[in-house]
Amino acid sequence: MNGSALIIAIDGTFASGKGTLARRVAGRYGLAHLDTGKLYRAVARDLLAEGGSLEDAERAAQVARRIDADTLDDPYLKSGGMGSAASKVSVHPPVRAALLDYQRKVAARGAVLDGRDIGTVVCPDADVKLFVDAAAEVRARRRFEELKGYGEDVTVEGVLAALRERDDRDMSRATAPLKPAADAHLLDTSKLSIDAAVSAACDVIDAVVNATA
Ligand code: C5P
Repeated sequence: MNGSALIIAIDGTFASGKGTLARRVAGRYGLAHLDTGKLYRAVARDLLAEGGSLEDAERAAQVARRIDADTLDDPYLKSGGMGSAASKVSVHPPVRAALLDYQRKVAARGAVLDGRDIGTVVCPDADVKLFVDAAAEVRARRRFEELKGYGEDVTVEGVLAALRERDDRDMSRATAPLKPAADAHLLDTSKLSIDAAVSAACDVIDAVVNATA
C-alpha cells in the first residue's frame, strides 16, 4: 500500500453522496478525511470577499496559495451559491495547481479524499479509487432536502437545473475534468441507502487491504 499509509480516493458527481460516504469510510478505517470541494469553495469565498472576479484566474490562484485550512469548517461554504462559485474558480489551471500540494500532503499521511479529480490527478496511485454517481433526479432531490435544511429558498426544478449546469462544467473543463479513473470502482447510489453505500464501499476497500496485508 504505497509503503505504508492507506489512501482512498472518492470522486463523483455533485450530490452523489460521496461526501457522506467519505466521512463514514474515514471513520471506519481510522483515517483523516479531506473534502477537497471545500478548498475550491474557500477560494471562491475569499476571492469574492476581497472584491475579485471568479473569472480572474491569476487573482484566484493568489487566493488559493494562501487558503487557511482552519477556515474550511465555515458553514457558509455549504451554500448552493458557494458550490456554483467554486465550480467557476475550479476551471482555472493555476488554481488547481495551487491546491495540489496541500491535498497531497494530507494524503501522504493516510487519508480519504473526496472530490472530482482525486483518482485521476491528485492521487493517481491511491490504494483504492471509488467513483460515485446517481441519477440526476435522485441527486437533485437529495440536495433540495439538504439546502432546505439550511433554510435556503429552493425548488427541486431549480436544484436539478443547477446540478446539470455544474456537472456539465465539471465534466467539460480542459484541466482535470470530472471522470472516473480507469481503475476506479463505480458505485451507483441511486437506489442505495447511505448504510448500503458504505457497506458496498467497505467491501471494495477490504478486498484491497486484505490482498496487500
Ligand atoms: O464537492 P463540492 O460540491 O463541494 O465541490 C464544489 C466544486 O468544486 C465542484 O463543482 C467542482 O467544480 C470543484 N471541485 C473540483 N475538484 C475537486 C473538488 C471540487 O474541481 N477535487
